[in-house]
Amino acid sequence: MFDVKLVVQVRLLPTPEQAAALEATLRAVNAAACHVSAQAYDQQTFRNYDLRKHTYTRIKDRYGLAAQAAQHVIKKVADAYATLHATLRAGNLGQPGSPRRIRATSKPITFRPDAAQPYDDRCLSWQIDVRTVSIWTVAGRVRNMAFTASPEQITMLSAHRKGESDLLFRDGMWFLIATCDLPDRPVTVPDGFLGVDLGIVNIATTSTGSRHCGKALNAVRHRRRELRRRLQAKQTKSAKRLLKKRRRAEARFAANTNHVIAKQIVTEAERTGRGIALEDLRGIRDRVRLRKPQRVTLHSWSFHQLGSFLGYKAARAGVAVIHVDPAFTSQQCSSCGHVDRRNRLDQASFSCTSCGFAEHADVNAARNIASRGVAGWAVSHAA
Ligand SMILES: [Zn+2]
Repeated sequence: MFDVKLVVQVRLLPTPEQAAALEATLRAVNAAACHVSAQAYDQQTFRNYDLRKHTYTRIKDRYGLAAQAAQHVIKKVADAYATLHATLRAGNLGQPGSPRRIRATSKPITFRPDAAQPYDDRCLSWQIDVRTVSIWTVAGRVRNMAFTASPEQITMLSAHRKGESDLLFRDGMWFLIATCDLPDRPVTVPDGFLGVDLGIVNIATTSTGSRHCGKALNAVRHRRRELRRRLQAKQTKSAKRLLKKRRRAEARFAANTNHVIAKQIVTEAERTGRGIALEDLRGIRDRVRLRKPQRVTLHSWSFHQLGSFLGYKAARAGVAVIHVDPAFTSQQCSSCGHVDRRNRLDQASFSCTSCGFAEHADVNAARNIASRGVAGWAVSHAA
């Protein structure tokens, strides 16, 4: 069981005047953040408490910030330095004296004029039933700002929204990213396991034979790669902007696909009283052997996302999840257990050289994962 936190992103629909107020606000809070950051850097003082003592009144007055907003700005700066310092300590920017390290530490951290800003319940209130928010801006409190959300998001927001939300401007649109805190549900003792095999042709295949095909997703990826190939020659700003936009659209599409797949799998497990058995994804890089390294990164990232969506959706539903050793799941016969490379005829077909069992290759792999789930659960719950 683990604590489930997830975010709901809703799009704001401000009127032109409301949008102008939001824009002025982000500009002001980020100018204030740059101010606080410069002071922190000059005095080499990075703790929230100390920064507040030295900058709070000044930024409140100079940038027209409400008390809460000024505190969030200072905390945002303190957090940014804490992250930088942790990165330095972990050696992720090279050894002392390396050019990357010097670049990162030779000047104060800066904040883009449209960098995201956290809001708490005192500067942002939600009227979820009528889909509006009331939000603090430098032009005063703006009320009745509309937002759009799916029925599922509305349910989630009204039941579980808690704590801070981030105001975000991206691709010409305004968003609020709300945090939802979900209570655990006790895990039901599973009656068998639904095995899930992850792949590229089929993103996910279950041991009961449902295949979630990756055709649409792969087509979107392919189109972007083609576009990148065409645009890479011109290093113009607009080409870069277009690619960035497409990359985000692709990520949204992939996330949406993963959500749908995860939901279908969890629903099936819940309906049949089973747990979910997944491959241990640490080995995924070895399994996805492709010639192009960036593709491996892309797919392993997407698999991890699907894995995490499955994890929290299962936790919400009280469905048990177990991770199993993925070794030889594609070469082993799920009927007699015989392992042989020749069992796998091609990408799609499996046929056992020992007992003659034949099945779609991914379904066979998913059946192996399911039985390893049963065995793994028995071992870990023996006591
Ligand atoms: Zn066999």
